[in-house]
Amino acid sequence: MPEQPELDVVCEVIHRRVIGKRIVDTGSAPKGASIIVRDFTQRGLSGLRESTFDGVFRRGKFLVFTLTRVVQNPGDSANGEPCATMFVVINPKLTGRLQLCLPTERHGLNCHIWLSLSDGRELRYIDQKTMGQVYLGDVAPEHLQIPDYSTMGPEPLAVTRADFLLRIKPFRGEIKGILTRSEFLAGIGNAYADEILWTAKLHPYRKRTSLDAAELDRLYAAIVSTLTEATTKVRVEMGENIHLKPRNFMNVHMKTGQPCPRCGTTISLIGANQRITNFCRACQPGGLIKGM
Ligand SMILES: [Zn+2]
Repeated sequence: MPEQPELDVVCEVIHRRVIGKRIVDTGSAPKGASIIVRDFTQRGLSGLRESTFDGVFRRGKFLVFTLTRVVQNPGDSANGEPCATMFVVINPKLTGRLQLCLPTERHGLNCHIWLSLSDGRELRYIDQKTMGQVYLGDVAPEHLQIPDYSTMGPEPLAVTRADFLLRIKPFRGEIKGILTRSEFLAGIGNAYADEILWTAKLHPYRKRTSLDAAELDRLYAAIVSTLTEATTKVRVEMGENIHLKPRNFMNVHMKTGQPCPRCGTTISLIGANQRITNFCRACQPGGLIKGM
């Protein structure tokens, strides 16, 4: 699942390469697109033709594009203007990615939506398991019925230490579970929660209520430093290949069996598939292990 650092870098590339470009054509693989697209405009994907990308921003794990749409009959737009704003909101979830490439590059089986841009490139949505969602709307995403959008908490790098300490108080469960709840902070998922907790030297299954003031301070500092430093590393490794998810630089996540970069202890694994937890038993002591 792309998280804040990856999506921030995707946004930067989109700003450079896509904003200001016009969509000259649209295409989709009907089966995948019917699962992925939620159309609140009733115009379908083809309704994006001749629209121009105006802007993009990230909110939590969502990417929000704003476009200017030329209205054929100005009487059709809400204010009678010849142009109207529309929104494309992408929630890539576990397996969705964007790709920016030339149209000559083969459409793989996982490419479900493609937009031909006025500079000759294609912006594609690829998704191995069609788990992500692409929403089309004529109003801002907070006014659309997008699951988990309007309930999101603040961005992790926008909360002060004092706000963080206040916000975490009502949450009483395991600290990793709290970090990945979007109502608490938006944009942190399974991978970066592991990295943050390793930096903070906190066991992922420690209960929030067991953390003292110094540990909560360490956690806040680790959120800021981990996400900030990761964005710099992702920027270098991703380049303009926005379909990649560079994570080799991580310290513990997906490093099962390798030595902890801080103490050399073998990195532990709990869980399976996409919900694995990696941590160092020596650096991150304590916590009740699930099932024990
Ligand atoms: Zn260690």
